[in-house]
Amino acid sequence: MADPDTLHRRGLMFILSSPSGAGKTTIARKLLAEEGTDLKLSVSVTTRPMRPGEVEGQDYYFVDRAEFDRLVEADAFYEWAEVFGHCYGTPKAQIREKLKRGEDFLFDIDWQGTQQLYQRAQGDVVRVFLLPPSIAALEQRLRSRNTDSDDVIAARMARARSEIGHWDAYDYVVINDDIDACYAKVKTILEAERMRRLRQTGLIDFVRELTR
Ligand code: 5GP
Repeated sequence: MADPDTLHRRGLMFILSSPSGAGKTTIARKLLAEEGTDLKLSVSVTTRPMRPGEVEGQDYYFVDRAEFDRLVEADAFYEWAEVFGHCYGTPKAQIREKLKRGEDFLFDIDWQGTQQLYQRAQGDVVRVFLLPPSIAALEQRLRSRNTDSDDVIAARMARARSEIGHWDAYDYVVINDDIDACYAKVKTILEAERMRRLRQTGLIDFVRELTR
Protein backbone atom coordinates (compact mmCIF):
# COMPACT_ATOMS: atom_id res chain seq x y z
CA MET A 1 0.00 0.00 0.00
CA ALA A 2 1.34 3.46 -0.86
CA ASP A 3 2.11 5.72 2.07
CA PRO A 4 0.33 9.00 1.27
CA ASP A 5 3.18 10.97 2.88
CA THR A 6 5.72 9.59 0.41
CA LEU A 7 3.74 10.35 -2.75
CA HIS A 8 5.57 12.68 -5.07
CA ARG A 9 4.74 16.34 -4.65
CA ARG A 10 5.90 19.51 -6.33
CA GLY A 11 7.74 21.91 -4.02
CA LEU A 12 6.39 25.35 -3.16
CA MET A 13 7.77 28.85 -2.81
CA PHE A 14 6.63 30.13 0.58
CA ILE A 15 6.91 33.91 0.70
CA LEU A 16 6.94 35.68 4.04
CA SER A 17 6.77 39.48 3.85
CA SER A 18 6.18 42.16 6.43
CA PRO A 19 7.23 45.68 7.15
CA SER A 20 10.69 45.60 8.70
CA GLY A 21 10.27 45.02 12.47
CA ALA A 22 7.01 43.06 12.35
CA GLY A 23 8.68 39.81 13.37
CA LYS A 24 9.21 38.21 9.99
CA THR A 25 12.82 37.22 10.66
CA THR A 26 11.92 35.58 14.00
CA ILE A 27 9.10 33.59 12.39
CA ALA A 28 11.31 32.64 9.43
CA ARG A 29 14.13 31.40 11.69
CA LYS A 30 11.72 29.37 13.82
CA LEU A 31 10.19 27.78 10.73
CA LEU A 32 13.59 26.90 9.29
CA ALA A 33 14.79 25.44 12.59
CA GLU A 34 11.69 23.31 13.03
CA GLU A 35 11.33 22.22 9.41
CA GLY A 36 14.98 21.27 9.02
CA THR A 37 15.67 20.01 5.51
CA ASP A 38 11.96 20.16 4.60
CA LEU A 39 12.15 23.92 4.08
CA LYS A 40 15.19 25.77 2.80
CA LEU A 41 15.80 29.48 2.82
CA SER A 42 16.28 31.13 -0.50
CA VAL A 43 19.28 33.30 0.32
CA SER A 44 19.23 36.64 -1.51
CA VAL A 45 22.17 38.47 -3.01
CA THR A 46 22.68 42.04 -1.74
CA THR A 47 25.01 44.99 -2.13
CA ARG A 48 24.18 46.15 1.43
CA PRO A 49 27.09 45.99 3.91
CA MET A 50 27.00 43.10 6.36
CA ARG A 51 25.45 43.88 9.78
CA PRO A 52 27.01 42.57 13.00
CA GLY A 53 26.05 38.94 13.51
CA GLU A 54 25.19 38.31 9.86
CA VAL A 55 26.82 35.39 8.08
CA GLU A 56 27.81 35.25 4.40
CA GLY A 57 25.73 32.66 2.54
CA GLN A 58 23.28 32.34 5.44
CA ASP A 59 21.68 35.78 5.75
CA TYR A 60 22.71 37.00 2.32
CA TYR A 61 25.39 36.64 -0.31
CA PHE A 62 27.18 39.98 -0.02
CA VAL A 63 28.51 41.33 -3.31
CA ASP A 64 29.62 44.69 -4.71
CA ARG A 65 27.58 46.65 -7.22
CA ALA A 66 29.66 45.54 -10.22
CA GLU A 67 29.09 41.87 -9.38
CA PHE A 68 25.37 42.51 -8.80
CA ASP A 69 25.08 44.22 -12.21
CA ARG A 70 26.87 41.29 -13.81
CA LEU A 71 24.33 38.86 -12.26
CA VAL A 72 21.42 41.00 -13.52
CA GLU A 73 22.94 40.94 -17.03
CA ALA A 74 23.33 37.15 -16.81
CA ASP A 75 19.59 36.83 -15.93
CA ALA A 76 20.56 35.10 -12.70
CA PHE A 77 17.64 36.53 -10.65
CA TYR A 78 13.94 35.68 -10.41
CA GLU A 79 13.56 39.28 -9.32
CA TRP A 80 15.59 42.11 -7.88
CA ALA A 81 14.91 45.49 -6.29
CA GLU A 82 16.70 48.52 -4.91
CA VAL A 83 15.92 49.32 -1.26
CA PHE A 84 17.56 52.24 0.64
CA GLY A 85 20.17 52.55 -2.11
CA HIS A 86 21.17 48.88 -1.95
CA CYS A 87 20.26 46.13 -4.35
CA TYR A 88 18.64 42.82 -3.39
CA GLY A 89 18.01 39.88 -5.71
CA THR A 90 16.61 36.35 -5.56
CA PRO A 91 18.95 33.95 -7.36
CA LYS A 92 17.33 31.39 -9.69
CA ALA A 93 20.17 28.90 -9.43
CA GLN A 94 19.00 25.45 -8.43
CA ILE A 95 15.54 26.48 -7.17
CA ARG A 96 13.76 25.48 -10.38
CA GLU A 97 15.14 21.94 -10.40
CA LYS A 98 14.60 21.46 -6.69
CA LEU A 99 10.93 22.48 -6.90
CA LYS A 100 10.41 19.67 -9.39
CA ARG A 101 11.97 17.29 -6.91
CA GLY A 102 9.54 18.39 -4.22
CA GLU A 103 11.75 20.70 -2.18
CA ASP A 104 10.14 23.72 -0.50
CA PHE A 105 11.72 27.16 -0.25
CA LEU A 106 11.17 30.07 2.07
CA PHE A 107 11.49 33.61 0.69
CA ASP A 108 11.98 36.61 2.94
CA ILE A 109 11.26 39.36 0.41
CA ASP A 110 9.28 42.58 0.12
CA TRP A 111 6.05 43.19 -1.79
CA GLN A 112 7.80 44.20 -5.03
CA GLY A 113 9.80 41.00 -5.04
CA THR A 114 6.65 39.06 -4.20
CA GLN A 115 4.81 40.55 -7.14
CA GLN A 116 7.62 39.69 -9.55
CA LEU A 117 8.02 36.17 -8.19
CA TYR A 118 4.27 35.66 -8.45
CA GLN A 119 4.30 36.74 -12.09
CA ARG A 120 7.04 34.21 -12.89
CA ALA A 121 5.99 31.26 -10.78
CA GLN A 122 2.33 31.77 -9.89
CA GLY A 123 1.38 28.15 -9.30
CA ASP A 124 4.33 27.52 -6.98
CA VAL A 125 4.00 30.66 -4.89
CA VAL A 126 2.23 31.02 -1.51
CA ARG A 127 2.19 34.62 -0.26
CA VAL A 128 1.97 35.35 3.47
CA PHE A 129 2.05 38.87 4.93
CA LEU A 130 2.65 39.65 8.61
CA LEU A 131 1.22 42.82 10.15
CA PRO A 132 2.33 44.42 13.43
CA PRO A 133 -0.38 44.81 16.11
CA SER A 134 0.19 48.60 16.04
CA ILE A 135 2.51 51.27 14.60
CA ALA A 136 3.88 51.96 18.11
CA ALA A 137 4.83 48.30 18.53
CA LEU A 138 6.56 48.36 15.16
CA GLU A 139 8.67 51.42 16.03
CA GLN A 140 9.53 49.90 19.41
CA ARG A 141 10.77 46.74 17.73
CA LEU A 142 12.86 48.71 15.25
CA ARG A 143 14.45 50.76 18.06
CA SER A 144 15.19 47.75 20.23
CA ARG A 145 17.40 46.34 17.49
CA ASN A 146 19.83 49.13 18.26
CA THR A 147 21.58 48.78 14.95
CA ASP A 148 20.27 51.80 13.07
CA SER A 149 20.50 55.58 13.49
CA ASP A 150 17.38 57.79 14.03
CA ASP A 151 17.45 58.80 10.37
CA VAL A 152 17.47 55.20 9.25
CA ILE A 153 14.66 54.35 11.69
CA ALA A 154 12.57 57.27 10.39
CA ALA A 155 13.15 56.03 6.83
CA ARG A 156 12.25 52.48 7.83
CA MET A 157 9.02 53.68 9.52
CA ALA A 158 8.01 55.58 6.37
CA ARG A 159 8.78 52.52 4.29
CA ALA A 160 6.88 50.29 6.76
CA ARG A 161 3.75 52.40 6.30
CA SER A 162 3.97 52.05 2.58
CA GLU A 163 4.72 48.30 2.79
CA ILE A 164 1.61 47.82 4.98
CA GLY A 165 -0.43 49.35 2.15
CA HIS A 166 0.33 46.28 0.04
CA TRP A 167 -1.38 43.83 2.41
CA ASP A 168 -4.03 43.03 -0.18
CA ALA A 169 -1.52 41.53 -2.63
CA TYR A 170 -1.07 38.46 -0.40
CA ASP A 171 -2.93 35.15 -0.10
CA TYR A 172 -2.77 35.16 3.71
CA VAL A 173 -2.44 37.97 6.28
CA VAL A 174 -1.48 37.23 9.89
CA ILE A 175 -1.34 39.86 12.66
CA ASN A 176 1.74 39.23 14.78
CA ASP A 177 0.45 40.12 18.22
CA ASP A 178 1.93 37.09 19.92
CA ILE A 179 4.93 35.40 18.34
CA ASP A 180 3.92 31.82 19.24
CA ALA A 181 0.35 32.24 18.04
CA CYS A 182 1.59 33.90 14.84
CA TYR A 183 4.07 31.10 14.27
CA ALA A 184 1.40 28.42 14.71
CA LYS A 185 -0.78 30.14 12.12
CA VAL A 186 2.04 30.44 9.60
CA LYS A 187 2.89 26.78 10.08
CA THR A 188 -0.74 25.78 9.51
CA ILE A 189 -0.71 27.69 6.23
CA LEU A 190 2.44 25.87 5.11
CA GLU A 191 1.03 22.46 6.00
CA ALA A 192 -2.27 23.07 4.26
CA GLU A 193 -0.58 24.41 1.12
CA ARG A 194 1.57 21.27 0.89
CA MET A 195 -1.64 19.26 0.58
CA ARG A 196 -3.05 21.21 -2.36
CA ARG A 197 -4.18 18.74 -4.98
CA LEU A 198 -2.22 20.38 -7.79
CA ARG A 199 1.05 20.03 -5.85
CA GLN A 200 0.47 16.36 -5.10
CA THR A 201 1.64 15.11 -8.47
CA GLY A 202 1.91 11.53 -7.19
CA LEU A 203 -1.86 11.38 -6.61
CA ILE A 204 -2.61 10.47 -10.22
CA ASP A 205 -0.92 7.08 -9.96
CA PHE A 206 -2.09 6.59 -6.40
CA VAL A 207 -5.73 7.11 -7.29
CA ARG A 208 -5.41 5.03 -10.46
CA GLU A 209 -4.20 2.19 -8.27
CA LEU A 210 -7.06 2.73 -5.80
CA THR A 211 -9.70 2.57 -8.49
CA ARG A 212 -8.26 -0.25 -10.56
P1 5GP B 1 17.45 44.29 5.19
O1 5GP B 1 18.52 45.19 4.61
O2 5GP B 1 16.82 44.85 6.42
O3 5GP B 1 17.96 42.89 5.39
O4 5GP B 1 16.31 44.15 4.09
C1 5GP B 1 15.71 45.30 3.56
C2 5GP B 1 14.53 44.91 2.70
O5 5GP B 1 14.95 44.21 1.54
C3 5GP B 1 13.55 43.98 3.42
O6 5GP B 1 12.24 44.52 3.25
C4 5GP B 1 13.70 42.67 2.71
O7 5GP B 1 12.51 41.94 2.72
C5 5GP B 1 14.08 43.13 1.32
N1 5GP B 1 14.74 42.06 0.58
C6 5GP B 1 15.66 41.17 1.03
N2 5GP B 1 16.03 40.33 0.06
C7 5GP B 1 15.32 40.66 -1.05
C8 5GP B 1 15.25 40.14 -2.39
O8 5GP B 1 15.92 39.19 -2.79
N3 5GP B 1 14.40 40.78 -3.22
C9 5GP B 1 13.63 41.82 -2.85
N4 5GP B 1 12.83 42.36 -3.74
N5 5GP B 1 13.66 42.34 -1.59
C10 5GP B 1 14.49 41.76 -0.72
